[in-house]
Amino acid sequence: MIPILSGYSSPDGKYHLVWCQYCTKYHRHHARRSSGPLQAHCVDNRRSPYVISGYRLIDAGPAPLQVLLDAGYTTGSLAA
Ligand SMILES: [Zn+2]
Repeated sequence: MIPILSGYSSPDGKYHLVWCQYCTKYHRHHARRSSGPLQAHCVDNRRSPYVISGYRLIDAGPAPLQVLLDAGYTTGSLAA
């Protein structure tokens, strides 16, 4: 059973941002490759079960501002 997580679209549409409860951060995946099962980006927490299971994303639509900020985007880069 592969976990299904919500993936938010980045403003440029190139990435999906997915919240990882084990790393307590957003992982970024290329949107073009995010339809199938993904290899987890859990480099901060190798004990994350996602390392073994991977996960699938469902499209959660455009990322809200707070998601973008939590994912490391800055208001300066968003305004550009
Ligand atoms: Zn993770």
